[in-house]
Amino acid sequence: MKAVFWQGKKRFELGEAPKPRIGDDQVLIKVEAASICTSDFHYADWDCTPPIIPGHEAAGTIVETGKNVRTIKIGTKVAVDPVQRCGKCEICLSGIGHLCPNTRHLGNSENPGAWAEFLAVDAANCYPLPQNVSALDAALTEPLAVCMESFERANFQPGWDVLILGDGVFGFIHAMFAKIFGARKIIIAGHYNSRLDRIAKETNAITCNTHNQNLTETLEKTVGKTGVHLAIEGTSAGAAPNIALNALRPRGTLVLFSYIWKSEPLDLPLLNMKELNVLGSCRSLNCFEKCLHLVSEKKINVASLIDIKEPLADANKAIIQLQENKKNVFKAVLLP
Ligand SMILES: [Zn+2]
Ligand SMILES: [Zn+2]
Repeated sequence: MKAVFWQGKKRFELGEAPKPRIGDDQVLIKVEAASICTSDFHYADWDCTPPIIPGHEAAGTIVETGKNVRTIKIGTKVAVDPVQRCGKCEICLSGIGHLCPNTRHLGNSENPGAWAEFLAVDAANCYPLPQNVSALDAALTEPLAVCMESFERANFQPGWDVLILGDGVFGFIHAMFAKIFGARKIIIAGHYNSRLDRIAKETNAITCNTHNQNLTETLEKTVGKTGVHLAIEGTSAGAAPNIALNALRPRGTLVLFSYIWKSEPLDLPLLNMKELNVLGSCRSLNCFEKCLHLVSEKKINVASLIDIKEPLADANKAIIQLQENKKNVFKAVLLP
C-alpha cells in the first residue's frame, strides 16, 4: 500500500509499505481522510527513529475484522481514537484508560499511523459515524475531542469567561467549544490577525494580537479587573502559563492543554493567594461520541477549520503550506 513516511529531521516521503496485519481484537480500516497535526512535526524532538508512518487523526471504512471483534462490522464508517490502551492495568481499570502507561499510540514506530491507504487499530478505538457526517469532517474528531477534554477537566459552567492563549487550530477549536458550552465572554490571544479574524467570525471571540495589543488591557475592557474563570494554554510557550494565571479570577482554573517544551516555574505565591486551580489536559476521555454528535447536529463547523485537502502523494505540499503559510492555514487533510 502507499504511505507517507517520516524519514528523519523534516523529511516526509511517499513510499510503499506492507498492508498492516490486524490482531484478533483489531480492525483494518481503509483510510478515507487523515489530517495533519502540529505534533506530527516533532518526531525529531522526541528522538524517534525513522521511518515512521505518522497520522493519529483519521476516519475511514472498516474492511476487515479480527476474530474476537463482535461490536463493529465490515463496511462501517468510523472515526479513530489513536490512543490504544491495554485495558488491564490499574489506570485502565480505574476508568482513565486514555492515560494508560501501556498506550500504543498510532503514529509511532511500533504503531503505524493513518497517512496510508490502510490502518490497523483496536476495534474499541473505532467510533461509528452518524449518517450525515463525512469521513473528511470525521478525521478531525480527535483534535475536537482533545479540546473538549479541556472543558471536561475544568468542569466548565455556562456563563464563565474564558481566555484562550494561542490562535492555532487548537485555539480555534477551544473557542468553538467555549461558544457551544455557553461562555459569557471568549477572549483569544495570538499573533496573526488573519487567524484571529477567522476565529472571531466563527465564535464571536474578542481577539488580542499580543504583538501590538496589551492583553491585560483587552481583558480589563472585556471582563473587568476581576479576571476570567478559565484560561486555556494552547501556545506551548514557557511564559504562557504565568500570563494565564495572572488573567484568572480568584479560584479560577488554568488548563494546560499544550505540551510545553521549555517550562518555566509557575507563580506559586499567586496560586496560593488566589486559590487557583491548575489542571493538565492530555488526550481525551469519553469525548469522541459527544464530538461526533455535535458535528452531526451542525453545532461545530468542521469545514471552517480545513484549508487544505491533498492526496497522499502531495503530503509534502500540504506540510509546507502548514509550516510556511501559518497565518492563512489552520488544518490540512490527506485523502488517501
Ligand atoms: Zn494531534
Ligand atoms: Zn492500561
